[in-house]
Amino acid sequence: MDLVIIGGGPAGMSAGIYASLLGLDFIILEAEEPGGLTNQAKSIENFLGFRGKSGKAIIETFLSDLALQGVKIKYPEPVNDIDLVSEAKTVKTVSDKYQAKTVILATGTRFLGLSKTMGIEGEKEFLGKGLSYCPECDGPLFKGKDVMVIGSAYDAFFMKGLAGKTYYLGPIPEKEEKQISRELLKANEIDYLEGKIERLEGKDFLEKVIVDGKAIPLEGLFITSREVGSELFQKVGIETDGDGYIKVDRKMKTNIPGVFAAGDITGEPWQIAKSLGEGATAALSVYHFLTGKAMHDLGWSLMK
Ligand SMILES: Cc1cc2nc3c(=O)[nH]c(=O)nc-3n(C[C@H](O)[C@H](O)[C@H](O)COP(=O)(O)OP(=O)(O)OC[C@H]3O[C@@H](n4cnc5c(N)ncnc54)[C@H](O)[C@@H]3O)c2cc1C
Repeated sequence: MDLVIIGGGPAGMSAGIYASLLGLDFIILEAEEPGGLTNQAKSIENFLGFRGKSGKAIIETFLSDLALQGVKIKYPEPVNDIDLVSEAKTVKTVSDKYQAKTVILATGTRFLGLSKTMGIEGEKEFLGKGLSYCPECDGPLFKGKDVMVIGSAYDAFFMKGLAGKTYYLGPIPEKEEKQISRELLKANEIDYLEGKIERLEGKDFLEKVIVDGKAIPLEGLFITSREVGSELFQKVGIETDGDGYIKVDRKMKTNIPGVFAAGDITGEPWQIAKSLGEGATAALSVYHFLTGKAMHDLGWSLMK
């Protein structure tokens, strides 16, 4: 096989359509369901051509385009072991083992909101109904409304620029402490709180959060902590930055020959447009790696 793409979100899908048009022998492995984080977006305002559509609707369009091109995503097929250093890369799942000359890592990031460490009672119920993980994406929907941010304190500043009363539930992450203090938050009219969110309450939409027994009325809650990378990557020596994002060059090459990365996993901005572009670039780079041909050598061969 020429290529294994790990992750069936926008980055993996985009890599897949290019890989198919380039005539590569490849597979896309997805741990859960195709679409990744985009499935959670209620309404997308900043992705050209799809303004106002839900993430799910966008993913359906992507999937039907992939189907027209004959591209399938194998799921649920979580990758749980990889050997990327040998010339023949090995990718293992519970049920199978794949060998390929190249690999594209497109596994995105994971929000801690739904994880065991930060899970909050009622969280799933309010996702998209007042609860969001992405201030840059959903922030504009909360103009003038009262909100709370948990995670990066920078996100509290971002939301303060849009929202009404803005709470930040600390503690401030260690890596932000040098730049952001409680005093700075206060000076910017951001209310600093500490405590445990016990539950979320509301009828159809979020109306209040209960922190240490005290009800705080608000319409938006942003849980922005993310987990990136995985033990898998660390084990095989993929170079990451201080925050765990995979280091790539403009061709989406990692430090390991034949291994490329694309999408949220390479860092900000965490956006669909960027993920699609990087997925496309990664597939073209795989093609170059395998054949020595660059995009300008292809002529019209992408147009079938
Ligand atoms: C609520 C919300 C609203 C958003 N709104 C917008 C918006 O308005 N505009 C915008 O541009 N972006 C928005 N985004 C961000 C956008 O969804 C992401 O930037 C995009 O999905 C990233 O694509 P990706 O393919 O890099 O990663 P992901 O979408 O995270 O996909 C990665 C995939 O890899 C899979 N995977 C992970 N580990 C493994 C493994 N070991 N084996 C196999 N598969 C694995 C995951 O299951 C996942 O499906 C929003 C996100 C959220 C959560």
